[in-house]
Amino acid sequence: MKNVRGILARLLAAAIVLAALAHDADALLTSGQSSVVNAFNSGDDRALVNALDSLAIDDRPHVIEYSLGVLTRGAPHQRPVAVAALVKYADGAALAGIAAQLRPELFQDERRELVRAMGSRKGVLPAIQQFLRDQDVLVRAAAAACIADQKDRSAVGLLLNPPPSLVDFTEIEGDGEDHLYAVSAIGAIRALSGFNAQNTNEILDWWRRAPGPLSQSVPASDVKIKAPVNARLATHSFEIRFDPAEAQRILEDRMHLRSDNDWNRFIQSMEGSARQDRAVAGKIFGPVYAPCCRVVFATRQTVAACGGVSESYGAFTNWGRMTITINVEMFSPIFWQIMFRHEYIHVVHRNQFVVQPRWLSEGLAVSLSESPFRSSWTPHRIASAGLANALSLGSLSATTAWINDFHTGDDESVSYALSGLVLDYLRFGGIPASEQRLFALMGQLNRGKQPRQAIESVYGVSLEKLDADLSQWAAGLPGGAR
Ligand SMILES: [Zn+2]
Repeated sequence: MKNVRGILARLLAAAIVLAALAHDADALLTSGQSSVVNAFNSGDDRALVNALDSLAIDDRPHVIEYSLGVLTRGAPHQRPVAVAALVKYADGAALAGIAAQLRPELFQDERRELVRAMGSRKGVLPAIQQFLRDQDVLVRAAAAACIADQKDRSAVGLLLNPPPSLVDFTEIEGDGEDHLYAVSAIGAIRALSGFNAQNTNEILDWWRRAPGPLSQSVPASDVKIKAPVNARLATHSFEIRFDPAEAQRILEDRMHLRSDNDWNRFIQSMEGSARQDRAVAGKIFGPVYAPCCRVVFATRQTVAACGGVSESYGAFTNWGRMTITINVEMFSPIFWQIMFRHEYIHVVHRNQFVVQPRWLSEGLAVSLSESPFRSSWTPHRIASAGLANALSLGSLSATTAWINDFHTGDDESVSYALSGLVLDYLRFGGIPASEQRLFALMGQLNRGKQPRQAIESVYGVSLEKLDADLSQWAAGLPGGAR
């Protein structure tokens, strides 16, 4: 702990330095340090990112101090910049020291992110352990995922004392943040142990017998899949069911699944979708270790029996459950992959936050599934999707009004497209520390803050300015008028 305390003393000094220099740039600073102070005082986040990156090259020890100064003294829109720099440059001890010192009630999202970043550092298991007992259950969830990052199977026991409270993770509808911890812990246990448990008791039994034979090991991702037996199929990431059994025949017709080889190809494409989703979402949430997800192929009839969801939805996920339901009578083979990636993103997103408004959860699912690595929008596509008007009126202002579940009406496809475009802008629009900023926005909305307030504080500009910037970004997308 000496190490950590030393870091904290220096960090505290840095915070004081920054505060003092808010009024009077001091000649004793190196040019790298004064660049950070000037950028901090100007409120320009792009300049602040650049100044911290330059400082990291010339004066590595000080970049941690200055980042902490920005984090503790800065405005809300400066915090993501500080977090991004710490995630990039701080070692495990510094991350632990800072997360331990920040006040949990003031730095919820930042503590989650700093703890989550510890997972990629070596030899930090003891430091991670203290956060498994953190007062903030979402920080505990982050620590559980870090344990999986460490790839040390003997650490499974840390996640079972106490065991995750979730009894059966596919059947029981979760509520609240305890559920998020349980999902994170079970995902981590599954990744470390290779044990495909259906509930907490199975995990405890297995652990008592460990390292005994695994009766239900996670199917390897490269195993050759055969056609389902008795309307069921277990794959690496999924437990697939057909309800009614006839749904299997309809799926086989639609997707031309006539042999074991066809089935293998189909399942590998599902696994590929899930793998890509976990990787893309991992840029925002940290590496994702999901529990087994149940996929139910249903028909109109069984979907309707599933809780009154409108027939017009080809697929949906139940809040809090690791379950995707797909209406085999509704979907088109052409859109199968995008649709499936979209639904799995919902599952991954809901494993991170309890409450998210509709525009943000649909926007994230559309954006991550259709634009995994760069924006898929072009000015032409924006026009043909009917978004030009919303863009000129203010797309963020319009999309954040979309908060109700399953609001119906003929403008819903426009709502999906618009929220996807907005999320693409927040990810690819050149916003500094965009991933940490998006995480902070999700955190504020999770805590019930109103969209305008949350967006303006996290992004540091008015909603109208962000609307104008988005409109300008969209107009400049490649593929525009020649
Ligand atoms: Zn959706």
